Amino acid sequence: MEFSCAEVGGQHSANAFAKAKCYLLGTRSTRLPDFNYCPECGGPLLRHVVGGQLRNHFFCQRCQAPHCDYPRVVVTTFVACGDRLLWVQRNRQPQRGKWAIPGGFLEQGETLAEGAAREVDEEAGIALPTDSLQLYMTGSITFINQLYVGFRARVSTDACLPGVESMACRFFTRRECLWDQVAYPQVNDSIRQAYDDLDSGSFDVWQAEMTESRYELRPVSHTGPDKPGVSR
Ligand SMILES: [Zn+2]
Repeated sequence: MEFSCAEVGGQHSANAFAKAKCYLLGTRSTRLPDFNYCPECGGPLLRHVVGGQLRNHFFCQRCQAPHCDYPRVVVTTFVACGDRLLWVQRNRQPQRGKWAIPGGFLEQGETLAEGAAREVDEEAGIALPTDSLQLYMTGSITFINQLYVGFRARVSTDACLPGVESMACRFFTRRECLWDQVAYPQVNDSIRQAYDDLDSGSFDVWQAEMTESRYELRPVSHTGPDKPGVSR
């Protein structure tokens, strides 16, 4: 992925590092769902047209069942010990052997914080009380059809133990990070922001919008005046 344009101006914030960042990426395409046939009856699927607009949800021409490929929710946790962040080495595909911030898909019946805490426990053997998790980042990753919610937490010791889903787990300073072995380099900028916030000791809540053509990360906990909306 190639970044083609520089940072844009930030908003006032208590965090000296907190500036909105926006990168325009070279390409743009519209993601379509992965299925063409009805999982109920095998009939062909047609895209819905709502108000004259072609939408990314479907109905079966044969049994009329609706089919939607809604975005899935990924929960992650930035666990800090001093100026280090917890990383886990993935033990399953995709990206087996690469390093990532602990996280995974939210499961049925879980709250966001419960899911995030479960993933940290499964991948690094650290049991975090859910009320110790603080909302930190949220965003859309349209090109993989996901929403993510990131929390932050702090621990006093770096004791951790890899679970079945991880080959290893370790706390890394920014300098120690294996940046060339990162599972999802598309989100490196968000991870660097977490290191910036650890350095400054001041934390905003961040919103990210990631599409195939654009990456934007902006603080939302210290907001300025409303911008005029667009009405139609
Ligand atoms: Zn059908």
